[in-house]
Amino acid sequence: MDELRHLFRRAADHAADYRLSLPDRPVGVPVDQAVLNEAFAGPLPDAPTPPERVLAELVAAAEPGLVATAGPRYFGFVVGGASPAATAADMLAAGWDQIAFNAVTSPAAVAAETAAGTWLKELLGIPATASAGFVTGGQAANTAGLAAARHQVLADAGWDVERRGLTGAPAVRVFAGAERHATIDRSLRLLGLGTDALRPVPTGPQGAIDPDALAAALRDAGPGPTIVCLQAGNVNTGACDDLRRACDLVHRHGGWAHVDGAFGLWAAASPATRHLVDGLETADSWACDGHKWLNLPYDTAFAFCARPDVHAAAMSYAAAYLVGSGGAPAGADLTAESSRRARGFAVWAGLRELGRDGVAALVERCCALARRFADGLSTAGFEVVNDVVLNQVLVGFGDDARTDRVVAAVQTDGTCWAGGTTWRGRRLMRISVSNATTTEADVDRSVAAIARLAHGIGGELVH
Ligand SMILES: *Cc1c(COP(=O)(O)O)cnc(C)c1O
Repeated sequence: MDELRHLFRRAADHAADYRLSLPDRPVGVPVDQAVLNEAFAGPLPDAPTPPERVLAELVAAAEPGLVATAGPRYFGFVVGGASPAATAADMLAAGWDQIAFNAVTSPAAVAAETAAGTWLKELLGIPATASAGFVTGGQAANTAGLAAARHQVLADAGWDVERRGLTGAPAVRVFAGAERHATIDRSLRLLGLGTDALRPVPTGPQGAIDPDALAAALRDAGPGPTIVCLQAGNVNTGACDDLRRACDLVHRHGGWAHVDGAFGLWAAASPATRHLVDGLETADSWACDGHKWLNLPYDTAFAFCARPDVHAAAMSYAAAYLVGSGGAPAGADLTAESSRRARGFAVWAGLRELGRDGVAALVERCCALARRFADGLSTAGFEVVNDVVLNQVLVGFGDDARTDRVVAAVQTDGTCWAGGTTWRGRRLMRISVSNATTTEADVDRSVAAIARLAHGIGGELVH
């Protein structure tokens, strides 16, 4: 066996050993960052090191600092665990070392993105005519969607923002729910619109935008370039905005409706939850993650736009050339990257592995497991504070200090991992169920561990 083959096999073996260890591995126990840094530190060697030795050194240095986010009892931050076929396809993407810039640098990468993009639109109920840019995350997808929005609302006002920039441009108002994801704010900063452009709109009891408040805000603002950021999947509660009503309001005011659906857009993939995102097809742009609920490898997300020409006008530096040559915008035309990783292989493989029914089952199973979590924890005497409509559960364990102590205890215990959050002025434990390998037994085991740790902590439980 030649050396390269041996090296790649060893890397694959390490990856497989790690994945197989996940169900039994302590989840996210704290490590001493200084010790880990030390394991990687030291002077850059003058002389070359044989690849096999480099790999062995890397594994030894990294192993103690790996977090089992891909495992079945990691419930922090809405993360999935990359599925077997998608992970293997991603290994091939590295091995093939393709540049998904365009069809010249990699026809295969563009074909995979095109096919997977079509499947994604079908699963999500996004119009088939929309463009699909394969980006690095919800952050990048929001930036691409809002760049398209910025282009169009200023074009409608007679301003070519790509050529003239924002200096002297008509002011753009950006309406967004008070409980928007913080990446929206960063996208606005990156796009030069600035966070002062934001007009926060009050949210209802579960954190979805209040449509009456949105209607009033739009009416009061009067005419002018208008972008509205809607949300499918509040990071705390899982609540989704009333997209049909909100998009209708936005369009009646001549605005652009962008939907941040990093994880919540996947509600569309199951008949059981589809109603939560009813009307999503009437929006103008959508951001959705692949590496969260769809269980694809990092970093994978999608920026969809109802108008591919607008999407390309905002993002491409070769749109005119491509339009001239008759090619549909693809690859780097739809993203902020130029030379790009070929993410389409893993997306194509992951979708094929699950199939339409598998994606629906994944969504339904995670929602059912979130309800099981909520039932288990309320039966154990703790307070579930949100309506568990999707895969998010918010739990209080008494006052803020006590809840924080329970969250800290869970994070050091290693049975499972859940984060803390502040919602409506209150400290809470936030549980997200979005891993395809999580079972009822994993939830029951986690509920038991949380209850054991919470009951072991002094102080009063408040219901
Ligand atoms: C996670 C998330 C984001 C950011 O996505 P990344 O993939 O981390 O860049 C944006 N919006 C919402 C609603 C999210 O849940």
